[in-house]
Amino acid sequence: MKTLFQNAKILKLNTDNGYITGDVVVNGNIIEYVGKKAPNGSYDKVIDVNGNVLMPGFVNAHAHTAMTLLRGVKDDVPLQEWLMDGVVPMEEKMTDEDVYWGQMLGIAEYVRNGITTFEENYFNYEGFTKAINKSGLRARIGIGPKINDRNNNHYQYLENLLQIVKNNTDESLVNVVVYAHSIYTISEDQFYAMVKFANDKGYPFSIHLSETLKEVGDCTVEHKELTPPGYIESLGFLDRPCLCYHCVHMDKDDIQILADYGASVATCPSSNIKLASGIAPIYAMQNKGINICIGTDGVASNNCLDMFKEMFLVSTLSKVSLYDPSVITAKEVLEMATINGARALGVNSGEIEVGRNADIILIDLNSPHMQPSTNIISNLVYSARGSDVYFTMVGGKVVYDNGKYNIGEDIEKIYEKVNEIRKRISSND
Ligand SMILES: [Zn+2]
Repeated sequence: MKTLFQNAKILKLNTDNGYITGDVVVNGNIIEYVGKKAPNGSYDKVIDVNGNVLMPGFVNAHAHTAMTLLRGVKDDVPLQEWLMDGVVPMEEKMTDEDVYWGQMLGIAEYVRNGITTFEENYFNYEGFTKAINKSGLRARIGIGPKINDRNNNHYQYLENLLQIVKNNTDESLVNVVVYAHSIYTISEDQFYAMVKFANDKGYPFSIHLSETLKEVGDCTVEHKELTPPGYIESLGFLDRPCLCYHCVHMDKDDIQILADYGASVATCPSSNIKLASGIAPIYAMQNKGINICIGTDGVASNNCLDMFKEMFLVSTLSKVSLYDPSVITAKEVLEMATINGARALGVNSGEIEVGRNADIILIDLNSPHMQPSTNIISNLVYSARGSDVYFTMVGGKVVYDNGKYNIGEDIEKIYEKVNEIRKRISSND
């Protein structure tokens, strides 16, 4: 299958305008041509982009996708109450099938908003892996120990999860990361099993890290004054490529540790401000050369899966926290949401370039808030929203086109199912 996109403003962040005008050719699942005028030839499909923006799909570097089922649960209460009285009791009632439908709803939201790749951390693996596979989206799946499980054969548990992922997904679209929920929910035995597992199999790591002040305080008390980055360093958890989610409460030494090991950070500003966790020190981390990418986190703390909102917040929170609008540029934020995320997740996407995966979205410029369309990069970061995306392609497959979803389930059926599930898991019976 060969597709020609014509007459597009192709996002190229390292050019003067931030874009070039021209054509893109997709052959199978790969970008084959990017330039002024595609070679003459026969194409299975020709799409006239009409001067709109063609750009790489967003990489959502931290998500618990099926938490869409919990949208709006315990919105305005402290984190501990939100988690223990709202989220956890409902999650305990979820079956594999529930998680399948929650995942499908999240995937619909992803393609609607131009997200083509995501990092997944959830449970009920049979449910969510089947949804990912059916939809055709690209994902990196975290396999990790059960939270607070102290009596397992931890290594074997990871092996079992890996088998589920391998059985249910396509390795051309899905890769694996060894995932620790956090230092306060994972025992030392579990950490050591994870390190051995990752070393044996050659997998990278990911973890929620330094998300709240309480996490940092408790860690220094329990682990000989080590802060969370120092503690995971002592466990050997930074000896392999590591993606750390949140990193809100980081001092100079913490930042230096992550920089020394070449770790990446996924910042999740909506979640951090909604749960009143704080503002991540993006400027300081970036200055130390840490690869910063962006995640939505789960819907229960966001409450929507829109990278445009996250980009706006990464930029503006960094500026206001230092009272300086020059500390971060729109171009840097776009890189975080695309190429930096792809780098952190180890996928060959995130740029419109020959040889990259054909993960492509089209953005409509024909709205008042996108005009004048002279400064595309600025419009994308400060003005655009998810609903400006009108076409989404993952690995050469069209998954969303002008209101039509192609993710393996009918959108109306997804809405019906998630409402039924939500009613059931909300009840106290
Ligand atoms: Zn999270």
